[in-house]
Amino acid sequence: MQLLGIDALDRLIDELSRLPGIGRKTAQRLAIFVLKSESQYAENLAEAIYNLKKETQLCDKCFNIAEGSLCSICLDTHRDPSKICVVEDIVDIFAIEASNEYKGLYHVLGGVISPLAGVMAENLHLNELIDRVKNENIAEVLMALNPSTEGEATMIYISKLLSGLNLKVTRIASGVPIGSHLEYVDTVTIGRAISSRREL
Ligand SMILES: [Zn+2]
Repeated sequence: MQLLGIDALDRLIDELSRLPGIGRKTAQRLAIFVLKSESQYAENLAEAIYNLKKETQLCDKCFNIAEGSLCSICLDTHRDPSKICVVEDIVDIFAIEASNEYKGLYHVLGGVISPLAGVMAENLHLNELIDRVKNENIAEVLMALNPSTEGEATMIYISKLLSGLNLKVTRIASGVPIGSHLEYVDTVTIGRAISSRREL
C-alpha cells in the first residue's frame, strides 16, 4: 500500500514493517516519527543500524553476537566453562542472563527442528555443539529451548545425540508456559526454571 505516493517514506515503511512484531500501522507511525524528528536523529538511527552489522559478527564458538572472534561470555574467565546452556536464539541469552541464575557458557542453535518450516537438524549448529562437548570437557548441557512442540522435539533429539557421552543433560523445568518465548517470560520465572532444572 502506497502512502501519499512518496517513495522515500514508502521505502522506510516497507523496511520497518519487515521487523518482527511491527505491523503496517506501527511502521507508518515510526516512519512519520522519524520524518518529524531532527535530521540528526535520522542520521544517528541509520548509522546505528549500519554499524551493528559492520562491527559485529557471530562468536566462532557459541554463535552469540560478538565484536571479535569470541563473544564476551566465552571470553569471561569468571564463568563456569564446564556448562553449556543450549538456546534457540541470541535473544534467549539476554533473557537468561537477566535472571542471574546461570553462570556457564551458551550455545545458540539458530532455531529448532521444524520440518514444516523447512528447518532440519543439519540447518542448526548441532555438529558444533557435539564438537564442543567432546573437546571442551563439558560436564553439563542445559537445554533451554522455548517450550513449543518443535522445541520439545529438538530437546529430545539433542538428548539422543548426547547420550553415550559422559555428561549430565538437563532441561529447564516447567513453569515456563508451553508455547511461550523465553524472551517474554519474566526473569523470576526463568531463574526458577533454571535452578530447578531436571536431568534427562
Ligand atoms: Zn561465545
